[in-house]
Amino acid sequence: FSRLKDGLKRSTSALSGGISSIFNKKRLDATTLEELEDLLIMSDLGVEVSRRVCDRLSAQKYDKEISAEEVQAALAEEVSGILEAVAKPLEINPGNHPHVILMVGVNGSGKTTTIGKMAKQFQNDGKSVMLAAGDTFRAAAIEQLQVWGERNNVPVISGKVGGDAAGLAFDAVKQAKEQNIDVLLIDTAGRLQNKDYLMEELAKIVRVIKKHDETAPHDTILVLDATTGQNAIMQAEVFQKVANVTGLVMTKLDGTARGGVLVACAEKFALPIHAIGVGESIDDLQPFNADEFSRMLVG
Ligand code: GDP
Repeated sequence: FSRLKDGLKRSTSALSGGISSIFNKKRLDATTLEELEDLLIMSDLGVEVSRRVCDRLSAQKYDKEISAEEVQAALAEEVSGILEAVAKPLEINPGNHPHVILMVGVNGSGKTTTIGKMAKQFQNDGKSVMLAAGDTFRAAAIEQLQVWGERNNVPVISGKVGGDAAGLAFDAVKQAKEQNIDVLLIDTAGRLQNKDYLMEELAKIVRVIKKHDETAPHDTILVLDATTGQNAIMQAEVFQKVANVTGLVMTKLDGTARGGVLVACAEKFALPIHAIGVGESIDDLQPFNADEFSRMLVG
């Protein structure tokens, strides 16, 4: 977990430093509570979470002296309670042939990289993997997925730039079935500029996948970039409307001051958080551990 610890350093020091300076031999009163609430909101924890922490402290300690450590402990408890409820590793059902995972999210969020990292983990678990380059809009996305395929030595189904993503997804499921693949990961285009189009395209991909297996896709994972802060919340709102999102992966938790946004997401969407990205290389995808994360975030 040292990678995460290092990565969250900026988030942690902003939070714990801020709390220390507010509660340096001070009482918990209207002023310090307001300062605390501002600090928590600035740390991307979200308005609801920030308010709840302040209400909880206020109920216990209003007008009394309180130490920074007590405030941190109350925050850590609140955060870990929220995260506990959503920390769920991805489960592959061996009854699915293949288990189909649709990866969604805006361009640049880390979808392709996360697919590459997940492919390695599935292989380590003894599963056969296939990738499908469903982001047919960008040549770079197709090439990048092919590179991840080579790195993992797994087949990549791809087509021409500008080709039909649904047709490609249909083909990929067919080939995965024929080759007795355990897990098929399908990349998709993440163009938020045109929501109707995005919705139509994702719906079409889902429709054709269901022609092979009515229960597929078995997971639709939204990839969110922590460094975008509150933008990640907005993206999750849009993707929940256009796709049946079943879980989240949050990337780029290495070196961001905005790690608190993971808590805001957990609170707002109550979607399972399957894993977190803590770097660009193949081993930088970690299982999400609620307790560890809250302790590291709060400091
Ligand atoms: P996509 O457009 O959603 O497929 O995003 P990519 O997978 O191409 O990732 C965009 C950029 O973010 C690339 O430069 C990746 O190396 C980088 N990236 C992805 N995940 C992480 C992460 O967890 N940490 C860091 N630091 N960079 C990441």
